[in-house]
Amino acid sequence: MAEIKTQTLDSYLRVIEISRDLASTLDLDMLLDDIVRAAADITRAEAASILLYDDTARQLYFQVATDIDEPTMRGLVVPLEKSIAGWIVINRKSVRIDDAHKDERFFSDVEQTVGYSTKSLLGIPLITKNKVVGVLEVLNKKKGKFTDPDESMLTVLGAQAAVAIENARLFQQSDLIAEFVHELRTPLASLSTATYLLLRPEMSREQRDQIVNNIHNETLRLNSLASSFLDLARLESGRVQFRKTRFSVADLLYECGDVMTSKAQETNVQIRVDVPDDTPLLEADRDKIKQVLLNLLSNAIKYNRPNGSIIVSGNHTPSEVSITIQDTGVGIPEDSVPHLFEKFYRVREHEGKATGTGLGLSICKQIVQGHNGRIEVKSKIGVGTSFGIHLPRSTKITPRNSEIP
Ligand code: ADP
Repeated sequence: MAEIKTQTLDSYLRVIEISRDLASTLDLDMLLDDIVRAAADITRAEAASILLYDDTARQLYFQVATDIDEPTMRGLVVPLEKSIAGWIVINRKSVRIDDAHKDERFFSDVEQTVGYSTKSLLGIPLITKNKVVGVLEVLNKKKGKFTDPDESMLTVLGAQAAVAIENARLFQQSDLIAEFVHELRTPLASLSTATYLLLRPEMSREQRDQIVNNIHNETLRLNSLASSFLDLARLESGRVQFRKTRFSVADLLYECGDVMTSKAQETNVQIRVDVPDDTPLLEADRDKIKQVLLNLLSNAIKYNRPNGSIIVSGNHTPSEVSITIQDTGVGIPEDSVPHLFEKFYRVREHEGKATGTGLGLSICKQIVQGHNGRIEVKSKIGVGTSFGIHLPRSTKITPRNSEIP
């Protein structure tokens, strides 16, 4: 009994301490990570997870969890009907269960995907300003069953967490939207100037054609800015779930080389793919890795010189597959290199050389990091640039319900 009381006191102190930290964290990922760790700690549970609620799509999706493979979990959708978390959102009440498998609301697909077995469960709704923002769950009490004090402490933590999540989300959104709006101003200003000029009677036929051409290019750029922005916003918010399969890296590299050949020929750039015969299979989201490679290849063409070349090569170690895309292009100034993966960053010296959004490399980085990999760059002005991506050959946990044989 005395032991329980000391544990409870410790836990309350921990809740007070974490509440203070939560209030000062605006980085959503870090914040959610802190919350799940604290939740598992104070209730002495094996694991904890947070599902966020998207009230437009009326869907719940996994955001973070302790002890579970993140890229597999992130973005995993849990139906509102037929799940305990969904029941918590709809009824705005907490749930305490000793054996989840005996509960008809239990949604076992997640368990199958992440390979984690749930026995006991305690879940609470995260509510702020009368709005449900998500669900906090702790799984498998290490000793005995979840108790009343566990539930009340998790509720106190949940109330703090909900406010902090809402603040961090608002901050994140306003930041991203402010940047996007800022980026829209330049093309909009040039469209507005172009239409003004078109209306001037002294413009020659040739000048008009040139202006119409500019308008066309600016609209194409705005379009690609909008799609890339949406892509990045989804990746950053964790709403993208990677669909992993096992596939041949060599085939993918040849395929990407083929796709980009005609674009490369426009400036007489040669693409060579060089992959050893024994390149192993990779377990990853093929479409997303293809998106990264096409993006890097497109840059290698755009920032190359006429008659230049590109070498795409693959390599591997027992734990990693590495892909390098090396070009003989204009190169990147040393002081720009640390900023390359920042949103909307474009090298000033390259302005006018090629059109772009400055979002491509941020998207590549999000995808590669979402696979627990790394992306690196080496460059020399006037000589060329080389981007390398390194991906783990397989993740810790093999999703059972994916298409892996
Ligand atoms: P963009 O749409 O502008 O190409 P990215 O995010 O893909 O956006 O790239 C950011 C910037 O990095 C580019 O504007 C360009 O200045 C520079 N860059 C990217 N790849 C290369 C490359 N292969 N060679 C030289 N510069 C590059």
